[in-house]
Amino acid sequence: MRGDADVLIVGPAALRAAVTEALPRCRSVAVDSLLGGVWTAGQQSFGGVIVAYMAGPRLLSALRAVRHVAPQARVVVAVPPAEEPNARQALDAGADEYVIEPLTRSDLEAALQIAPQPPLEDDTPAVPSVEEVVQLSDVLKHLGEGPAATLVRLAGLVQSAFDAESVAVQIDDYSATAGQPDQPVLREPIRRAEAVVGRLALGRRRGGTYAADDARRLEDYARLIEAVVAQAREQQHWQELAWHDDLSGLRNRRYFETKLDELLTHATAERQRLTVLLFDIDGFKGYNDHYGHDTGDALIREVAALLTRCSREQDVVARYGGDEFAVILWDAEKPRVPGSQHPHDPIALADRFRDAIGKHEFKCLGPDAPGPVTISGGLACFPWDGKTRAEVMRAADDGLLAAKRTGKNRIALANGGSATPEVPPPTAE
Ligand code: GH3
Ligand code: MG
Repeated sequence: MRGDADVLIVGPAALRAAVTEALPRCRSVAVDSLLGGVWTAGQQSFGGVIVAYMAGPRLLSALRAVRHVAPQARVVVAVPPAEEPNARQALDAGADEYVIEPLTRSDLEAALQIAPQPPLEDDTPAVPSVEEVVQLSDVLKHLGEGPAATLVRLAGLVQSAFDAESVAVQIDDYSATAGQPDQPVLREPIRRAEAVVGRLALGRRRGGTYAADDARRLEDYARLIEAVVAQAREQQHWQELAWHDDLSGLRNRRYFETKLDELLTHATAERQRLTVLLFDIDGFKGYNDHYGHDTGDALIREVAALLTRCSREQDVVARYGGDEFAVILWDAEKPRVPGSQHPHDPIALADRFRDAIGKHEFKCLGPDAPGPVTISGGLACFPWDGKTRAEVMRAADDGLLAAKRTGKNRIALANGGSATPEVPPPTAE
């Protein structure tokens, strides 16, 4: 029968109230006596007849009569839980099904063979709970972490909004899950304009089944996911631009400082060390003056490319400003042991940069380059030379100034030592 077809309710007013509450779309006619019920069932072509259970032969003969006068109807008996053992007799007398009280929409839909119906308030937009709004605002707050991380948060949001055992979501090249993956129970395509660009799937509902309007809510969530992921992608794009140095293609000072704060927090918590190299091209003004500003720009670009080539994947390489560059050298895995020494391997890495630049034939300077391009730098190590960003950067800058003062083309340690004693001999101030 159709969800909005007529139903005949035979029984007390409470039964009618329970049926109309569970199936608000059904048109119903109510009759309180069995005899009146049998007569009414024969007058109109009802899709279903719901009869209140009562003990004894009167119910059984009324059911037989209804079956006779309304062969097209689904005949369902509403049975109090305590009477369930006797309900089979009603089936033997011609009822199609019985339902146990209190009546639920899904039981009645199944017994009357009604397709699941959206609730009456279908046309009004679903209002998210406060919890959903709070979770969504948390997702939006972290959009800067990018589309992949945003999708992970959205999967968690959907999981708690639907109380699902699991959620699997995929959009474009990103996918995320929440909970233990299992067979999907509800699925929804994710669309952008008319094209399907992903899928959203829910596993079973924790301790129950989904309500009919959950399919519509899932549709809303699929649209939300598309919009939020697009926003995350956009934000990432602008953030990349904001953290990028146009001339050199490296990260800029703003990114470097943000990352240094983050890595110092991490290094403090995990007892790890971290080194900053700050260096500056020697006599850069002279290249500008001699070759022109464009060649100066090209020189910065070539130094940046060399730096990228010589650095390790985890190192943060940035143009700090003008002809100054900064690198964070760090190793995630090894915690410091108490009493450990100022490290030496960052010194070797810093000298590798200096060597690479010194030996490189700069295309922008052509064959008549006046000599090797040299750099002067300062190295500062957390926690020995400073504990905060300001302290570490001041220490690295002190090293850089010391390297300049003592003859250039060298890397100096913040604590006054020299990382490159062999070139050239330090000159006393
Ligand atoms: P030192 O050996 O002491 O480092 O001297 P220097 O000649 O390299 O001079 P300094 O580092 O103090 O100044 C760097 C110069 O770089 C100053 C500025 O005119 C120039 N400069 C800064 N930004 C740019 C840029 O984007 N492009 C070019 N071509 N030049 C720049
Ligand atoms: Mg310089």
